[in-house]
Amino acid sequence: MRHRPTGDLQYVQQMNRRLVLDTLLNHGPMSKIEISRQTTLSPTTVGNAIIELQSENLVQEVGKVVSPMGRRPMLLDIQWDSRSVIGLSIVDNKVLGVRTNIAAEIKKISEKKFELSDDIRSVLQSVISELMDGHDESTVIGVGLATPGILNRSEGEIVNIANFPWKSLKFTGDIMNNHKIPTFIENDTNAAAIGEAYFGRGRGVNSFCYVHVGTGVGAGIIVDRHILLGSRGYAGEIGHMPVELNGKKCRCGSIGCLEAYVSWHEVISLLKDHLPKELSEDDFETIVDRASYLNSIYQKGDVAEILEQVSEILAVGIASLISTTDPSIIILEGIFDQCDEFMRALQKNINRRLINFPHDKPLVLTGELREFAAVAGIVAIILEKNGFLRSSESLLETNYHFDIQEGQQ
Ligand SMILES: [Zn+2]
Repeated sequence: MRHRPTGDLQYVQQMNRRLVLDTLLNHGPMSKIEISRQTTLSPTTVGNAIIELQSENLVQEVGKVVSPMGRRPMLLDIQWDSRSVIGLSIVDNKVLGVRTNIAAEIKKISEKKFELSDDIRSVLQSVISELMDGHDESTVIGVGLATPGILNRSEGEIVNIANFPWKSLKFTGDIMNNHKIPTFIENDTNAAAIGEAYFGRGRGVNSFCYVHVGTGVGAGIIVDRHILLGSRGYAGEIGHMPVELNGKKCRCGSIGCLEAYVSWHEVISLLKDHLPKELSEDDFETIVDRASYLNSIYQKGDVAEILEQVSEILAVGIASLISTTDPSIIILEGIFDQCDEFMRALQKNINRRLINFPHDKPLVLTGELREFAAVAGIVAIILEKNGFLRSSESLLETNYHFDIQEGQQ
């Protein structure tokens, strides 16, 4: 048996406290006697756990049970607003942030656009300050940032982001150093997959892939309700999955990568004869709502054939992903998700590549949370880490090992 540093009595008390808290998270508000019945713990044990939880401001009395006769026991419920969580994400050219309570209800949203020449540290700090403004910082149980790029998770560091000028940005050290709050960073696509798994299209779905196509291409892979990370945390980097033997040169230095055919930059260069002549390449890089822009180009006509070819190559990449991970659905977000014709062509081309698959081929769907998917994932990770996810939401038995660090003084 594993040695436990605490005494058995203390361990049992902790387990009882956990059981009472879980029962209230999932079935509250309820009376002590109902908790006792449901957990099969004695009324005294439940009472002691409640006293402890009340002293931590986690549980409160919310009125009496409605009953026409006899004693009316006090109802207890979680103090949902007693703790808060901050989720941030770098989405295209803005920082999006939310503050939620422990029921994952959004209490405040803040977003700031930035130029590549801006100091991203001060943009992040200003979003955090706005979310904290007038709020007791001691109630914040975690701050997380979802970001593209190469990450050093254990240091809370963004090593670099392709197409962004920043190098070695330390979220934990540089930005959160004045706060005593546990912080962490996570890949934006993984975070978005977790967000959709808990709160969006992936809720209750056992296995699915979240694919994002934009400046880069990436996937967050959920298999049997586990996020797939891999030995280096690089699982899902499908942008650099080879789709052609002697193909186009990719910005990573290799050839024939998926990204070299389907990223925003590549699609725009394929469509250049059909785009307004007065716009330069740089102008296209700064378009914010790329999905609706691409859809408007499609509606004007004459580009169907070009986009059909793009969908064929994207289908090769996604079919490979499907063959490897056997998802129920694919959630596709990014530049193509408003273009119904493209989505139909993609589905047809994926199905063509999966001849030996059972007849119910995975459907390609859009997400439900859109640009909030990644911040929702960050919130879910922090809630789960702190034991506040309700069981209806706790389907993702994560194998994540986050390096949540205390912010340095
Ligand atoms: Zn590549």
